[in-house]
Amino acid sequence: MKRLAIIGSTGSIGQNTLKVVQHLPGRFEVFALAAHSSVTVLAEQIAAFSPQVVALMEAGRLDDLVRHCRERGVRLPEILTAEAGLRAIASAPEVEVVVSGAVGAAGLLPTLAAVEAGKTVALANKESMVLAGELLRKTASRTGARIIPIDSEHSAIDQCLRSGKPDEVRRLILTASGGPFRDTPKDQLPHVTPEDALNHPTWRMGRRITIDSATLMNKGLEVIEARWLFDIPDTRVDIIVHPQSIVHSMVEFTDGSVIAQLGTTDMRQPIQYALTWPERVESSVPGIDWTTAGKLEFMPPDKEKFPCVELAYRAIRQGGTAPAVLNAADEVAVQAFLERRIAFTDIPRLIRDSLDAHEAAPAVTFENVMAADAWARRFVSGKVAHARMTKS
Ligand code: MG
Repeated sequence: MKRLAIIGSTGSIGQNTLKVVQHLPGRFEVFALAAHSSVTVLAEQIAAFSPQVVALMEAGRLDDLVRHCRERGVRLPEILTAEAGLRAIASAPEVEVVVSGAVGAAGLLPTLAAVEAGKTVALANKESMVLAGELLRKTASRTGARIIPIDSEHSAIDQCLRSGKPDEVRRLILTASGGPFRDTPKDQLPHVTPEDALNHPTWRMGRRITIDSATLMNKGLEVIEARWLFDIPDTRVDIIVHPQSIVHSMVEFTDGSVIAQLGTTDMRQPIQYALTWPERVESSVPGIDWTTAGKLEFMPPDKEKFPCVELAYRAIRQGGTAPAVLNAADEVAVQAFLERRIAFTDIPRLIRDSLDAHEAAPAVTFENVMAADAWARRFVSGKVAHARMTKS
């Protein structure tokens, strides 16, 4: 039995991971769970999976968690709190596979702890690679840690890369659904609402990533993620819009042959691939029904309508801490949009301003990366507050 630690267990990746575990009895033991603050869901998970250790990021919810467990008559596991708790779980000697499924920049700390401890890391937290891809790569090659992507596009590429050797790869092609505003005229974009943007056509995901899909920033972040996961220059990572989301991504090889990975839009597939890697085992995820699949379309992304794509490439070229600034600026701007404090088209504007104002430093330490992250958060929060004042 592989022993798992699941970071972000109450989020959408965490819940799907537990579904996969439940479907494959006898294969995995849930040794540890970590959540931010959703104590009701966490108590249910403790009751269902009996982990030995649990970490709660928001220490102030500890009493609530204990109460919820007692109400269910559940035996209490060892409970750790805050960042030290997350780190302890991600590096616990008993754990073989760490599922890194926390949301946002907060996911970097447990990912880095797991990589430092030489674990197999099933990585859903793309920010880890965006913020500190170089640092994680170097650390992994020192400790022997292995990073298997859960992000569906990167899982697809990982699967396609089995068809050839690294020096036979010409380019990676990430597919993008195009988001809910693919056909919205550019002049309408300043007026779209959070509800419009949260209405994703093909994937069901968390709130930030759904907005990032609408701005195409999600794809920009995925280019950076691919650059570090697969150690390939950004000039050889391309994006193509594919509204049906059936082709999850592709690899073009030096002989012009293209290998694609296709599947339904069900996160349990890439999660199971990462958990059982390098094996494939039976799953309850159905294959594609080709009799009803219809047309598969491909088109270039509209980079003028969705400037976030170019901003991501620009951040890679700026290098060092610039991708951390890109990500943090986006996270704060998306939150402000969700709270109706800024317009949809202000998101790329605020990110560009941040990149313009930032002096990139080498992203070689966790502290450097987090300092850039904190700087960008302050910078964008200040701009949002100022915009509010001038508006009212
Ligand atoms: Mg993705």
